[in-house]
Amino acid sequence: MVESCSAVNCRNRRRKDVTMKFYRIPTDPNMRKLWLHAIRRENFTPSTTTAICEKRFTPEDYELISRKNLAIEGF
Ligand SMILES: [Zn+2]
Repeated sequence: MVESCSAVNCRNRRRKDVTMKFYRIPTDPNMRKLWLHAIRRENFTPSTTTAICEKRFTPEDYELISRKNLAIEGF
């Protein structure tokens, strides 16, 4: 279960009272690059629990992600 955002300097956490989508790192190599860019961490190896909140993406990124339907279910 993902509880918080993996991006640098982001303290967004999953909360019941706030609607915020979190996105799990995709397996697609091109999409992974987008995640790693958004996370802004060097030498970071994503795990299966790596996720980032919607605030870390640009509107263009967000559209792409939405189209691919990568949101974590239940968030
Ligand atoms: Zn975040």
